[in-house]
Amino acid sequence: MTIALHGIGIGGGIAIGRAHLVTHTDLEVAHYEITAAEVPAEIARYDSAVRATRKELEQLWGSIPENAPTELGAFLSLHVMLLNDHTISREPRDIITAQHCNAEWALKLQQDRLLEQFDEIEEEYLRERRTDVIQVVERLFKALNGQNGQHYVPPEDSKHRILVAYDLSPADMVLFKEAAFAAFLTDVGGPTSHTAILARSLDIPSILALHNARQLIREEEMIIVDGTAGVVIVDPSDTILAEYRKRQTDYAADRKRLKGLKSTAATTLDGTTIELFANIETPNDVDHVRANGAQGVGLYRSEFLFLGRDDLPAEEEQYRAYKAVLEGMKGAPVTIRTIDLGRDKMPRWADEDTTSAPNPALGLTGVRLCLAEPMLFRTQLRALLRAGKHGKLRLLVPMLANLAEVSQVLFHVEQAKESLREDGIDFADNVEVGGMIEIPGAALTINHFLSRLDFVSIGTNDLIQYTLAVDRGDDAVSHLYDPFHPAVLHLIGYVIRQADAAGVPVSVCGEMAGDVRLTRLLLALGLRRFSMHPAQLLNVKQIILQSDLKRLNGLAAEIEHAPDADRVRELLAEHLG
Ligand code: PEP
Ligand code: MG
Repeated sequence: MTIALHGIGIGGGIAIGRAHLVTHTDLEVAHYEITAAEVPAEIARYDSAVRATRKELEQLWGSIPENAPTELGAFLSLHVMLLNDHTISREPRDIITAQHCNAEWALKLQQDRLLEQFDEIEEEYLRERRTDVIQVVERLFKALNGQNGQHYVPPEDSKHRILVAYDLSPADMVLFKEAAFAAFLTDVGGPTSHTAILARSLDIPSILALHNARQLIREEEMIIVDGTAGVVIVDPSDTILAEYRKRQTDYAADRKRLKGLKSTAATTLDGTTIELFANIETPNDVDHVRANGAQGVGLYRSEFLFLGRDDLPAEEEQYRAYKAVLEGMKGAPVTIRTIDLGRDKMPRWADEDTTSAPNPALGLTGVRLCLAEPMLFRTQLRALLRAGKHGKLRLLVPMLANLAEVSQVLFHVEQAKESLREDGIDFADNVEVGGMIEIPGAALTINHFLSRLDFVSIGTNDLIQYTLAVDRGDDAVSHLYDPFHPAVLHLIGYVIRQADAAGVPVSVCGEMAGDVRLTRLLLALGLRRFSMHPAQLLNVKQIILQSDLKRLNGLAAEIEHAPDADRVRELLAEHLG
């Protein structure tokens, strides 16, 4: 039976392929020993996860919409039954006691055992229930909040497969960057979560916040993913398939046409040239940057080098990665952001205090973590300064909230230089240091930052999150995460004006910079330097080429004083219509 699911589309284009379901357990499971004295607490932790999962399933069951497919209710009731079965609710407790291991590991062992039994079942209906076991266990893992562990091996034909997961962490996405899939689908996630950002950088259609995709899609089922519309069609008819294959061809032709703009300067109709830079996550992304004609790298999220691994990258490894990007960009400017871990980018080696922070988005994250871990910071700064010899490097510091942080960062940079001098190691002495403006407090006091920094870059992803108090990764509130909100635009406009007046270069490197709905709005606010994922660059350039800045005169003031986001959208349409 054909069904359509709706979510948040985060990558353009259409993918058609067979489903490949991955579970959280496939990806990462922690394994550590506990003492005999810790066993009761670990069992209590497991029991509490079972209770939380039961409550979650019961709530889902109670809130099934009337028009939902009837199987959904049946699945959920089956899941409650499986959860209550002693094989899942009791036996992992025995494993914890016998093996003195953590609850996640006990659950993983029990899952492996159960799946083996299911594989031996001849009867097809029962054998298929193994998926339900995986889904229940996955919910339990979520409740346990497990991390770390083994590595996932993707199927060989992954580039023809559509990956379906309940959730993917940024670390999982790093793994998937190496194993191309045709598309990604997840049940949860917000439009500017780091998972979404990585999926976007892969330049494939992906859809988040589908809610029930993992319940409704079966392994190997044929699916169409329309990343622009945010629609998934499961088990399509031949007519629907033919229609989408045509749309796929049209999309590819459009992309090819856009490639023709690669070497065209991004100049508006009135003759103003706009600078377009690219955001990257790994050195391999450089090819993509060059293929789309970016003028340089405006944001290299260096922290991805620290994710999805158990150890810390040593100075030498970091140096090689940064050097590869600088050399790959052949003298064009490369802005490398210093480590921005924490929040949804939690490294495996993070200690208990960091991982269990009551509110990670307000905790030890970004530059705060670097200042709290001076050796971590020193190692990175040394690697960066050394790499600076191989190109035009700029350092960008994330999550600045106050001037004391700027002073401390500059002090650490000097210390790193001093230590390199002492060791007789060559480094670049003239590297510019800039700051990300992504906390409203920093935006409002921007003038003071401008006198201490060589450049600033507005991180709209976090700026929206902190201005509107909306978690960027939580799809339950994603309708409130609105870049058109006048408060957000007011802060962006203010920072740009102040930076221009002070003669300090300013850019936007959050997802807003690559969103074609917002290109003219940002131009109206005075932005002349954008940094975005390479895949978005030519679309944005096309809008710039068709824009006349004279027609945008006066729009900024009106927008910043608009009462709400709807009025901003109206104003934009009226001005351009
Ligand atoms: C931002 O916050 O806008 C930004 C560019 O940084 P990140 O998305 O990595 O937090
Ligand atoms: Mg940020």
